[in-house]
Amino acid sequence: MTARVLVVDDVIQNVKLLEAKLTGEYFDVLTAMNGEDALKIIDQEPPDIVLLDVMMPGMDGFEVCRRIRSNAKSAHIPVIMVTALDQSKDRVAGLEAGADDFLTKPVLDLPLFARVRSLVRLKLLMDELRMRETTGQDIGMDIGSDLNRNISLSSAKVLLIEDYSRVADRISRYMENLATVDVDNVASGEISTPNLDHYDLIIVSLSLNDVDGLRLCSQLRSSEHTRRTPILVLVDEGDNDQMIKAMELGATDYITRPIDQNELVARAKSQIRQKRYANRLRRNMQKSIEMAMTDAVTGLYNRHFLSTYLDNLMSGKNDRRKNVSLLMMDLDKFKLVNDTYGHASGDEVLHEFARRVSNDIRNIDLAARFGGEEFVIVMPETNLEYAYYIAERLRMSIADKPFEISGSDKPITVTVSIGIALAGDKNSTSSKLLVAADTALYQAKGNGRNQVCCIE
Ligand code: GH3
Ligand code: MG
Ligand code: MG
Repeated sequence: MTARVLVVDDVIQNVKLLEAKLTGEYFDVLTAMNGEDALKIIDQEPPDIVLLDVMMPGMDGFEVCRRIRSNAKSAHIPVIMVTALDQSKDRVAGLEAGADDFLTKPVLDLPLFARVRSLVRLKLLMDELRMRETTGQDIGMDIGSDLNRNISLSSAKVLLIEDYSRVADRISRYMENLATVDVDNVASGEISTPNLDHYDLIIVSLSLNDVDGLRLCSQLRSSEHTRRTPILVLVDEGDNDQMIKAMELGATDYITRPIDQNELVARAKSQIRQKRYANRLRRNMQKSIEMAMTDAVTGLYNRHFLSTYLDNLMSGKNDRRKNVSLLMMDLDKFKLVNDTYGHASGDEVLHEFARRVSNDIRNIDLAARFGGEEFVIVMPETNLEYAYYIAERLRMSIADKPFEISGSDKPITVTVSIGIALAGDKNSTSSKLLVAADTALYQAKGNGRNQVCCIE
């Protein structure tokens, strides 16, 4: 994994030292010696992560961090504060200013690489999700975009895996204003807490008596229910091996014993916020994918989706293409419905029509809105005889039961004409199939409408 790291420090030796360490690990390093320059670089060539000294003349690190966070262009870039003072009040001030993490000088290699890698990994994932969100917005979806700082932390749930009850009690007390904490003491050798997917954060002690905490981390990472849940590990001071292994196995953060309450709460908050932000991005993405595939009036797939689907189905690689039936349907004299009852009533008819169609087809069939009042049904593994039977049934389900619409006291009669084509051999293509079905539809219209025609 390579990434661009910006190192900010007012002391040249510190800059050089970090630059050398990071370059040695194949990171691409940019440097700045004061806050103003750092902000300029961030604006012009945004890095993947910023290592920020706290004590600098002029603008201090806290202020630089606040400015990074308050600018929408840079708000998502992870920031690690580098503090000379090993004082928890400074660390907490850093996290409050919006830093994601902090390191204490002198900066040791292993914690440095572990923290940088973990944050860069997270950022790359978030970049991808944010890009998809932007794509959603570009194609006209209003999916709202808050900065990650605005995420609510209310009713957070934390699972603590710790078998030493006094420590478990203390940690639960530390966190009581932030989250409800459930404790699992892994008495059975395994995590026995149900509904693991309800937790915003799982804290795992790496000093369990009979159970290997690292193994638990790796299980949590690979389980369907906890794959995306952040894991904060509790490490004994100086036990860098354990810490590195845990981070490699997918723990998202660590804290060393003796545990400082402020640090624990600040780290937990930042993990929970990240998780909720990622969840929201994912949900929005899901929504925008659905919206991009479907038609708003009828809820059926749209034409763009249909074309892609049909191209895949009929491509040379696909054996199923030899027995595909396609129905092209067009509502009869639909212009008259609009002219008589208004466009809104016309939409209601389209909606009800789509509902009846959806109810009448099999799971493997795909219904799409092809154009204004034209619809297509693709039926894989279906011969002409069966397709005709379905088409007739559909035609009757429309014609036999008048439509109730708000524009008319009396239900109105609606009919549909249907053309069927079969992709009977390996020379069929999606466009030939569509043209053939359209020709059949044209015949059905010419023959007086409200009927089904086939072309072989
Ligand atoms: P035919 O039996 O020959 O198909 O006659 P028709 O009136 O259905 O055909 P024509 O193509 O002349 O008119 C289609 C009408 O469908 C015109 C248009 O106003 C209406 N239409 C297309 N899209 C929508 C829509 O989204 N909502 C509503 N309410 N009407 C639509
Ligand atoms: Mg029509
Ligand atoms: Mg038409």
